[in-house]
Amino acid sequence: MTDANENEQENLTDGFNLVIDALKLNDINTIYNVPGIPITDLGRMMQASGMRVLSFRHEQNAGYAAATAGFLTKKPGVCMTVSAPGFLNGLTALAHATTNCFPMIMISGSSEREIVDLQQGDYEEMDQLAIAKPLCKAAYRILNVEDIGIGIARAIRAAVSGRPGGVYLDMPAKLLPQVMNDKEGGKSLVKVIDAAPKQIPSQESIERACEILRSAEKPLIIIGKGAAYSQSDVEIKELIEKTGIPYLPMSMAKGILPDVHPQSASAARSLVLKEADVVLVIGARINWLLSHGKGKTWGENDKKFIQIDIDPKEIDSNVPIAAPVIGDIQSCINAILEKIDHTWVQPPAEWTNSIREKVETNIARMAPRLENQNNPMDFHGALGVLRDVIKERPEAILVNEGANTLDFTRSIIDMYQPRKRIDVGTWGVMGIGMGSAIAATVETGNPVLAIEGDSAFGFSAMEIETICRYNLPVCVVVFNNGGIYRGIDVNPTEGEDVATTVFVKDSRYDKLIEAFGGLGVNVSSPTELKSAVDEAMNSGSPTLINAAIDSSAGTESGRIGNLNPQRQMKK
Ligand code: ADP
Ligand code: MG
Repeated sequence: MTDANENEQENLTDGFNLVIDALKLNDINTIYNVPGIPITDLGRMMQASGMRVLSFRHEQNAGYAAATAGFLTKKPGVCMTVSAPGFLNGLTALAHATTNCFPMIMISGSSEREIVDLQQGDYEEMDQLAIAKPLCKAAYRILNVEDIGIGIARAIRAAVSGRPGGVYLDMPAKLLPQVMNDKEGGKSLVKVIDAAPKQIPSQESIERACEILRSAEKPLIIIGKGAAYSQSDVEIKELIEKTGIPYLPMSMAKGILPDVHPQSASAARSLVLKEADVVLVIGARINWLLSHGKGKTWGENDKKFIQIDIDPKEIDSNVPIAAPVIGDIQSCINAILEKIDHTWVQPPAEWTNSIREKVETNIARMAPRLENQNNPMDFHGALGVLRDVIKERPEAILVNEGANTLDFTRSIIDMYQPRKRIDVGTWGVMGIGMGSAIAATVETGNPVLAIEGDSAFGFSAMEIETICRYNLPVCVVVFNNGGIYRGIDVNPTEGEDVATTVFVKDSRYDKLIEAFGGLGVNVSSPTELKSAVDEAMNSGSPTLINAAIDSSAGTESGRIGNLNPQRQMKK
């Protein structure tokens, strides 16, 4: 070949390759997706290029997986969907990620702009960008192959910087096969530098916070999932232990310090919320999960709040904040730690002892209930043994959803390591279970124990096939009490239908997994449950345990029954 010939033959690349190269350049190597038009080939090519591409049975579960990946890794989890219906299915998860401040990118294929905008009825026509916008932190569309690098860089930065959240990235079908010069294409890619920059708090804000903290008679620290996300485990531990202040972890912050830590006030939650006079909130919103910082839960005394958050808009959202500290948690805590020197005085013993006493009384009162051997089990008997499973395997990730199953598990099962508890989050989403379980083990390599209410499990149950297909070390325990909240409601009419909250009696969820080659076990006593779970966790093989729970155990809506409006007028 002559030189002239070589010059004529321009080397080309295309949208498919540039999307892959852009993601890889930014260390994104795992994709959670459901294949279909127009992203089938993109998924294939991603896999061929060495990326891990996990295919789900429903986009919502792929999306929950991506959200969970974001929480665990501080990198955006990526979910990829087909157009309109797939996009809409994924959207609940994108909104969930945004609501929980988890970084995630949802990439959806879409129909051609020219046809969508004239509403000419394209295949799966929908203005996806417009629909996604109010449900996520940022939404972008890439129309030209030259813009893929910039588009993906923007999506990554939007997802992880400041308060993390979900980002939507729209890719019309025509984008992917578009070609451009190979070299130019390479140059168009962007490696995102310092995607989530440190945000240093002002010195004034630190001084203000420390002054209030020093003035406290009954100080309390609340740590939320933002604290877990920030991976400031060492700093948080140092702050709590150096100051000697009792702390309360929010659900997904459990394990930043082991729940058995002597300063944990979890078992005295009502007491500390009512009586504390200064509350330092780290990476938690004072939303419904904290009774909005007011009302009976928070008692009568005047309280001062110090709040560490990366998002200045969060401050004063529910109650006045006496000392806002705006910055990333690690920088903020380091700045506070600098002020906690030898002059720091430990909180009054009267306060810390009263909490300790309450904690010990409550734990002692609970102990016999957790050892009960009822058959069929109640929640306490079942969770008493599952508590030991996690104690014996603190590195295992606990995924948890349901109503009563959620409430009881959260309070009974102690966590020992950070980011090992994944649950329904801020919205209380039922259906996060299997997607979260899959991402949890894929991202960390750790085994997963998923404790699922029977109703909650149903929302993502088909992903049991996904778990078997990839042979993941996931043990699912379905707390089967035959219905939503309970299985004993009756239809008040003469009609044949069962009550609205009741499922098939004595159902056998364990049979589901057998269809896919996994191990199904049916148990009805705590001893059987323990040995089945031990075996599953030791083998690392996909297992589904149907744990028969007394159908009369459980209460309406679990612990948030007050949020369910009840009819006042009787017929
Ligand atoms: P929980 O439900 O556990 O109470 P929330 O999700 O309500 O926690 O609150 C998490 C908070 O953490 C959010 O307000 C978010 O802005 C904040 N946050 C997240 N990451 C960081 C970070 N790295 N530094 C500071 N604040 C953060
Ligand atoms: Mg149930």
